[in-house]
Amino acid sequence: MPVSCRPSAPNDPELLRDFTRLVPVGRSLDGVLWLEVGVVSWPTPHTPQLHWEPLQSLPAHASAQAVTQARHAALHDPRYFALCGRCGQRRPQGWMHDGDLCQSCAERWLGVVH
Ligand SMILES: [Zn+2]
Repeated sequence: MPVSCRPSAPNDPELLRDFTRLVPVGRSLDGVLWLEVGVVSWPTPHTPQLHWEPLQSLPAHASAQAVTQARHAALHDPRYFALCGRCGQRRPQGWMHDGDLCQSCAERWLGVVH
């Protein structure tokens, strides 16, 4: 599916910056770049914890375009991110309240206290 057909969210650039990263493994010639995705979990109700899960490996010499494409693809992976139906922001799955509502909206509109 072409990138342009997929819905984007106004905060996608922030998510790309804060919740995706590239980790080089090995030497530059035969190494790889691991694309990792930040996953939010809640070991206690008020303290979110971020950990990184490797999603995909790219060749160390991958072009900037290939890297950008892979990072964007990660944002559209429903295992990791979802679009909030109320505010239209994309959120890590760990920040979704229920269904397609994010926690911020759940607090604002439903009076849910996290
Ligand atoms: Zn929302």
